Amino acid sequence: MSVGGSLDQQWVRVSGRLKEEVGETAYRSWLKPLTIGELKGGEVRITVPTRFMRDWVQTHYADRIRAIWSGENPRVQSVDIVVAQARLDVGASANDDADIVESPMPSDEIEEERPTSGAQLGIDGRDEHFAHLDPRFTFENFVVGKPNELAHAAARRVTDAATVTFNPLFLYGGVGLGKTHLMHAIAWQIRKKDPNRRVLYLSAEKFMYQFIRALRFKDTMAFKEQFRSVDVLMIDDVQFISGKDSTQEEFFHTFNALVDQNRQVVISADKSPSDLEGMEERLRSRLGWGLVADIHPTTYELRLGILQAKAESMNVQINSKVLEFLAHKITSNVRELEGALNRIVAHAELVGRAITLESTQEVLHDLLRANDRRVTIDEIQKKVAEHYNIRLADMHSARRARAVARPRQVAMYLAKQLTARSLPEIGRKFGGRDHTTVMHAVRKVEELKTSDQSFAEDVELLRRMLEG
Ligand code: ADP
Ligand code: MG
Repeated sequence: MSVGGSLDQQWVRVSGRLKEEVGETAYRSWLKPLTIGELKGGEVRITVPTRFMRDWVQTHYADRIRAIWSGENPRVQSVDIVVAQARLDVGASANDDADIVESPMPSDEIEEERPTSGAQLGIDGRDEHFAHLDPRFTFENFVVGKPNELAHAAARRVTDAATVTFNPLFLYGGVGLGKTHLMHAIAWQIRKKDPNRRVLYLSAEKFMYQFIRALRFKDTMAFKEQFRSVDVLMIDDVQFISGKDSTQEEFFHTFNALVDQNRQVVISADKSPSDLEGMEERLRSRLGWGLVADIHPTTYELRLGILQAKAESMNVQINSKVLEFLAHKITSNVRELEGALNRIVAHAELVGRAITLESTQEVLHDLLRANDRRVTIDEIQKKVAEHYNIRLADMHSARRARAVARPRQVAMYLAKQLTARSLPEIGRKFGGRDHTTVMHAVRKVEELKTSDQSFAEDVELLRRMLEG
């Protein structure tokens, strides 16, 4: 008998622990598909379906898997992650040259979004299609950092695969974090690499609009045909069709038809598939089948990197102190960050003076104040932990003792009250907890506030300190 049951039984426990650490979404994308092989000479063999997955699991989870597992079973000293035999032909994402792109459907046209006349979507000259894509939204102009590295890697993967590795690719994240940029980048890159692959990009809103037109002109056959003949279909902001039942129905069929034919589908939304309210259950679950990649809120490093790249592309010299100041102060999203930079550059040109820290503060006066008032979840966790004299780490830990669980609930409650973060986002910041846990915490705190006067005062005090 080995320690703690069979390897499979050990894996159930190891992966359970990992799930707590990384959260449900990451678990489902990366850890659930792993197959456990044998233990030989202290090494556990783990099989994954694709090379892309192997690289990702290797760099992001292998150390944790090994560490937790050897805690379970000291005989486990290392893990070896290998690609399942049948899929070895998928191609390495790290080396572009190694991928021979084979167009699955040779064709002399490329499809893109274009304004429609009548119900027809039309397949026309590619330049007209591409006229609707922002030429600045390329991979070259996309700055990669921790918060977006998965989404970026996956988007790249879509462009260099002749084989569909995951379907759909579902990108989600808050406003202004780069979803549309990545989708346009995919289209540009595919055009560059293989103009024969037919790409169609459009917003969910346009999809609906065209669908309704087709219905009106009794031309749904043509509508269906157009969508179903593409190699890559990208639908941006799919949350838009929440609650729009017949559009969802049509989208669901289009989606299935493409996936069945092994065509790549890329979707973006502001929420994860499971959090898309007003979406039919079968569609939500179907959307989560492929790779779900979330773009997290920006970090200071990423913001600074974006500012530097942007200043360079605008060909302006800006003191690094000014860029650091902006990266520090404007934390909402990349769109606002770019807007701020544009404003200070425009102002400097207009008044003919150099950009300084003072002029920046002056020009961005309103923007800086709006960003100032935002409290972050990190700050809330820190303050609450200090107040109740617990360790900051307990905000993320799985410990359930009341002495730490209650303050954690208070912090979740304040995060809901004082930030614009959604329940799943909050859950993620608290050690990858589920959104229902956050919801429960919010209710619990509200309940206690009405029944326990001193508790209510405590929470009020914390709130004032954080807002002040
Ligand atoms: P979303 O579709 O997620 O709301 P967008 O893709 O429209 O966001 O991005 C908003 C702006 O921020 C765009 O101008 C985009 O070029 C820029 N942007 C976002 N992320 C990055 C990044 N990582 N590097 C460079 N620019 C970015
Ligand atoms: Mg967008």
